[in-house]
Amino acid sequence: MPDVLVAGGGPTGLLAAFELERAGLDVLVLERDARPATQSKALGLQPRSVEVLADRGLLAAIEPHVEARLPGGHFSGIPIDYSDLPTPFPFQLGVEQAYVAAAIEARLRTPVRRDAAVTAVEQDADGVTVTAGGHDYRAGWLVAADGGHSTVRTLLGAAFPGTPARFSLLVADVTLARKPAGLGEDWQLPSAGPGFLLPLSGGRHRVVVAGEEQQRLGRDAPVTAGELQRALTAAHGPGIEVGQVLWASRFGDAARQVERYRHGRVLYAGDAAHVHLPIGGQGLNLGLQDAVNLGWKLAAQVRGHAPGGLLDSYHDERHPVAARVLLSTRAQGVLGIPDPDAMAVREIITGLLATADARRATALELSGLGIGYPATFGRATDVPASPDGRAVLVGAPLPEGWADRVETRDGPRPRLVRPDGYVAWAGGPGLDTALEQWFGPPVESLVDTAGAA
Ligand SMILES: Cc1cc2nc3c(=O)[nH]c(=O)nc-3n(C[C@H](O)[C@H](O)[C@H](O)COP(=O)(O)OP(=O)(O)OC[C@H]3O[C@@H](n4cnc5c(N)ncnc54)[C@H](O)[C@@H]3O)c2cc1C
Repeated sequence: MPDVLVAGGGPTGLLAAFELERAGLDVLVLERDARPATQSKALGLQPRSVEVLADRGLLAAIEPHVEARLPGGHFSGIPIDYSDLPTPFPFQLGVEQAYVAAAIEARLRTPVRRDAAVTAVEQDADGVTVTAGGHDYRAGWLVAADGGHSTVRTLLGAAFPGTPARFSLLVADVTLARKPAGLGEDWQLPSAGPGFLLPLSGGRHRVVVAGEEQQRLGRDAPVTAGELQRALTAAHGPGIEVGQVLWASRFGDAARQVERYRHGRVLYAGDAAHVHLPIGGQGLNLGLQDAVNLGWKLAAQVRGHAPGGLLDSYHDERHPVAARVLLSTRAQGVLGIPDPDAMAVREIITGLLATADARRATALELSGLGIGYPATFGRATDVPASPDGRAVLVGAPLPEGWADRVETRDGPRPRLVRPDGYVAWAGGPGLDTALEQWFGPPVESLVDTAGAA
């Protein structure tokens, strides 16, 4: 029996499984689809995600598929320069999500169980029973990473409050049989407004459209080559001709978030926990950061040394981060509406974002580098993660009783770094308190407590 089941083998579920395995747990990912995804929703990785993937040795397998290093991000199409951000990776990596997922999946010890759509979940005091692909699986815990339409969320009736979709967008990857010279030849940031044409590798183009026809057709209508042709002709004139439609879907601007990231022995992560308009390149990155925040906390819980409240700190730390992204993407969505008043606000915001402070604050937010969990002292990019998922204490002697959870290293700057890369203690008094707060009591007192009981 695995320690943890993960529903959904998208990037979030795969990275959660990787983190849990790194900490020594047995994990089984249950994935609905029979084969790994070859089509990608997301096309970019923000700097904080790049840092995390590099730290875990996952970036090397992704790099051959990188199509562009974008000098920044964008706020509703308004370019935001990243070049002075405090990171070894001050750029967005233009890479298709399928390659990110494949790189993580390749490093899992236990292969993903495919053709295994979760259809039932029951939990009791000792564990969770999940029915997937007609089989029952039992584990102590379940990570629900089964995407924006999460079956687990529906089965458990988890509250998912937010704002409904007001408009519908079409996304498709196509080949173009003909196109005007110069059109869609460079990787670039999406232009202002809800629509763009972006070249991908292998002669493919990504098309995103939100015209009148898309609003009339609604979310469930199948996408046809005719609809795409009409949209592209309207945007780029008669010289453009759709060849093959390789993949197409529709999405909207609903912004919702689960009320509690923890539901007993079930923890929500990624799109299963939050959905929003995919503008500004935030969703994939949110999911990856959920996974690294959750992994070590759940591993400590399974191992029995998690201090009280550690697992719940997953909700406390990650819910506000996604809530802020929902706010940001809702604002960005409004700025993309081709309405004179929205365009007036856009002009004002564009001016404000040209000022140094506003630009930097927005860059820190979009890049994920600005995440500052209240009880931590920022991230430590110069302290590589411990390969076995332990915390790292740099430049200070480790008090007795924590060596199973904390690796020590020499260094001039004393810091205690959590397994997700955030600094829990930054020198001075309070090392023992920080160790107990994040990693539980020293082994001696565990033994004493057991003896006393
Ligand atoms: C058009 C578009 C463009 C986007 N662009 C970007 C971007 O540039 N940058 C960015 O950061 N984000 C972007 N996003 C958002 C990003 O794609 C998502 O946030 C990301 O895919 C979330 O990953 P996930 O693993 O949480 O969910 P998903 O990728 O949805 O993975 C969920 C997995 O669960 C599986 N599953 C579903 N139901 C079940 C079930 N019942 N049982 C078992 N398995 C199940 C699915 O098959 C899937 O493999 C974009 C989204 C869209 C729609």
